[in-house]
Amino acid sequence: MGRSSVDPIVYLDYNATTPIRPEALDAMTRALATVGNASSAHSPGQQASRAVEQARAHLAALLDCSPTELTFTSGATEANNLAIRSAVEPGRAIVISTVEHTAVTEAAEAVAAACASTVYTVRVHHDGTLRLDDLEAALAERPALVSIMAANNETGVVNDLSVVVKLAHDAGSLVHTDATQLVGRLPIDVRELDIDLLSLSAHKFGGPQGVGALFVRRGALVAIQPLAFGGGHERGRRPGTLNVAGIVGLGAAAAAAASRLDQEVAEIRALRDRLEAGVLAELPDTRLNGRLDSRLPGVSSMTFSGLPADAVLAAMPAVAASEGSACAAGALEPSRVLLAMGLTRDEAECTVRFSLGYATTTDDIDRAVGYITEAVRHVRATIGDPTVEATPSTAGPEE
Ligand code: PMP
Repeated sequence: MGRSSVDPIVYLDYNATTPIRPEALDAMTRALATVGNASSAHSPGQQASRAVEQARAHLAALLDCSPTELTFTSGATEANNLAIRSAVEPGRAIVISTVEHTAVTEAAEAVAAACASTVYTVRVHHDGTLRLDDLEAALAERPALVSIMAANNETGVVNDLSVVVKLAHDAGSLVHTDATQLVGRLPIDVRELDIDLLSLSAHKFGGPQGVGALFVRRGALVAIQPLAFGGGHERGRRPGTLNVAGIVGLGAAAAAAASRLDQEVAEIRALRDRLEAGVLAELPDTRLNGRLDSRLPGVSSMTFSGLPADAVLAAMPAVAASEGSACAAGALEPSRVLLAMGLTRDEAECTVRFSLGYATTTDDIDRAVGYITEAVRHVRATIGDPTVEATPSTAGPEE
């Protein structure tokens, strides 16, 4: 496929995880080389504690909140669970959307089952944006919690959360957002937004995997119920010895993202547009999914009609991108996000997600356009040929 063995992979899967920012790696390396439990009173412990608090301040600056409103967790999955579990009230519903990540859908179902609550699901339009008529109907039930993602992981579609917050607060509901894909990629001001709860994850903005945070607005009518028991860490909200190096990496990534956000947004958007223009010029029947003028700058969801995404990806090993599919219980299912947007099963199965980020270059994009074009033409030429076997998908659990 014209790829020399020394060409590096073009990494276009930032929505799965981002390369670590050099600032985060440096800060983590230093933190790992020092001993000290952030709960200890001696000086190594206090040094660790100061590093954690500095990270909290960096994250607070990125979100425009107070450091005391932030609780560190093992990632966005835990933050989503903590938020939903804490906000539920017996007998009052939880409202989510059809395109939430499984870390919200499954948490909501589990919490509702345990708390005699119900889950209402708000549908989305064909362009992936929320159906406000559905939201208003669900709010008539006066739910305890509305949990709507800030930006979708498969399409990058960004929701207008200010409208959701206003409607939900008028109905007396708390509002949580899974902002995992948006934080560090687009500006967000939680104070202005007046959101009650927000989840995020370091590895989506250049920090390490396995660390995230939950924002809880001071004054929000919610008592955080820890998911585990065993210590008073994080003001009783999340017991367990703090992951100092991970938290330090999150803080350094947040500071780096904050200092360059406007520039990165513009550069990444220009690269994404270059990718789309390049692919569409060569493959004009490619379809782009999601509301084009309300997307994360670095995301492009492309449908190559009639060409299964796994075959296209297998034909371009030099590009790391992702199928719009998750492997549920061993069976490959087409993306429920794309199906919820009204794509057919075939269309969903023929969709590839490309996601770019802070380290993507023009050269990456130009090479990717070449690889994608070759791969699509190759699959198109061989698809009717029964001697060409479909490559089994290696998709794991939803990332
Ligand atoms: N929510 C969304 C929208 C995500 O994209 C992800 C990760 N892909 C998660 C939650 C889970 O985050 P974590 O890996 O930090 O548990």
